[in-house]
Amino acid sequence: MSKKIWLSSPHMGGEELKYIHDAFEKNWIAPLGENVNEFEKNLTQFLNIDYATALNSGTAALHLALINLGVKRDDEIIVASLTFSASVNPIVYQAASPIFIDSEPDTWNMDPELLEDAIKDRINRGKKPKAIILVHLYGMPAKIDDILSISGKYDIPVVEDAAEALGSKYQGKPLGTFGEMGVLSFNGNKIITTSGGGAMVSNNPDYTKKALFLATQARDDAPHYEHSEIGYNYRMSNILAGIGRGQMEVIQDRIEKRRANFNFYFSNLNNYEEIEFLTEQTGFFSNYWLTTCIIKENAKHITREDIRLKLQMKDIETRPLWKPMHLQPIFKHYPAYLNGVSEELFEKGLCLPSGSNLTEEDKYRVLSELKSVLDG
Ligand SMILES: *Cc1c(COP(=O)(O)O)cnc(C)c1O
Repeated sequence: MSKKIWLSSPHMGGEELKYIHDAFEKNWIAPLGENVNEFEKNLTQFLNIDYATALNSGTAALHLALINLGVKRDDEIIVASLTFSASVNPIVYQAASPIFIDSEPDTWNMDPELLEDAIKDRINRGKKPKAIILVHLYGMPAKIDDILSISGKYDIPVVEDAAEALGSKYQGKPLGTFGEMGVLSFNGNKIITTSGGGAMVSNNPDYTKKALFLATQARDDAPHYEHSEIGYNYRMSNILAGIGRGQMEVIQDRIEKRRANFNFYFSNLNNYEEIEFLTEQTGFFSNYWLTTCIIKENAKHITREDIRLKLQMKDIETRPLWKPMHLQPIFKHYPAYLNGVSEELFEKGLCLPSGSNLTEEDKYRVLSELKSVLDG
């Protein structure tokens, strides 16, 4: 059997163990310590933002961001339908209601026109949405200017779900820094990983202070344990932050490798009319966390599934795009503003192996299998 080629697997840099070792030496195993502080400093410097709070997942970061905005029972929160369920679950943790917005075809992210239609319609129905969760899927920036101008016009705050977009930029400015708060993930498949983890970033000291308070069981200022709010156990451990510090030393390389993966696939396959890649718009810089494409309707009748299954047989992992949230059994009863784009993307879209640890040999193996299907 040939070596399995994964979609996106962890890629350690080498210094991670040193930082973990430090934590052991100093017995800074828990709860906090130098690794957490330094990892947060790495993140703020990298993003050019004032504050970062290291947490145990991106989902936790989004949950705390929503609590910071005062999201509560029966509030309505706007979010793209085409995303991972973790963009939506925290809305429901707060007993609020997601309002789904379809994608636009250029970036596959939230369609600004539909966003404005939806806001107007929700207001007409008697409730102004409380927040917009703006996802940058697969590392590709959304149409941020358009969305921020709508957010400003209706005075609805934006939280950026940049879980897949660490290192991406829009007009030169890092994603995650445009909204009131930004959410990052260091889950195992992301561009850098702490094995599991996340962060909330912001320029607002009050949001940051509150997030830290809630993430550490909402303990009031008293010598004993005093609580006047519900808290959470959401902080990142000092051991895992050590992995994060090592990963931040190599993040530029990881971005370059993922972008090189995209360029490899694009330059070798873009001449096939059956395949179309998701590419950057003017002013965009994508980390190309995953290289994604759609298999268009074609004379050879080749489908996305033909490709996915053929590659699976050859021990190469590819994956359909995210299944839209408005089609998910658990979310389908919530309001959705649709234009057909996300459903078409789900039917035709494919994520290609995109790890920063793919070798040239791996990439050529994927390419030759893709070509063998596309050549019919
Ligand atoms: C991974 C991811 C999250 C959640 O991050 P976790 O760290 O896995 O909790 C949220 N949103 C999107 C779009 C993601 O891809």
